Amino acid sequence: MLKYYNYDIVFQEIPDEVTLAINITHCPNHCEGCHSPHLREDIGEVLDFDALDRLLARYADNITCVCFMGGDRDVACIENLAKHVREKTGLLTGWYSGRNEMPPHPMLFDFVKLGPYIPEKGSLKQRTTNQRLYRRNGEDWEDITERFWKRGS
Ligand code: SF4
Repeated sequence: MLKYYNYDIVFQEIPDEVTLAINITHCPNHCEGCHSPHLREDIGEVLDFDALDRLLARYADNITCVCFMGGDRDVACIENLAKHVREKTGLLTGWYSGRNEMPPHPMLFDFVKLGPYIPEKGSLKQRTTNQRLYRRNGEDWEDITERFWKRGS
């Protein structure tokens, strides 16, 4: 079972998409310099199909993508939630993971961000980052991390 702390409609996490980003708690990763320490605590509301349906009822008409921010503790649950979004709405799905490996069923997602946060390498916005955002194109994955890099950065 996963829980979420909050959510927001965002424009930068997934390039070219209007995304409902759901911030999931009880993160099992131990990134040095974690940017969101509160997300490591076991707090928040249960994120099940009912909770997801309530969010979709409010926002599905105004977004193009649903992205799960975290949830490495229960990958099967994230996959089930992504499948539910797909079947219920046809919206694009994304997952921001701190892992280095694709999930067992990657085709349930249109976008997957991999990699832990390493302070000296920086976030997705920095060219030195170890993190990667992939966009699915059929059965292939394209690394679109450079979309976060501004010219001259
Ligand atoms: S993945 Fe790393 S940076 Fe993100 S909430 Fe978990 S510990 Fe913090």
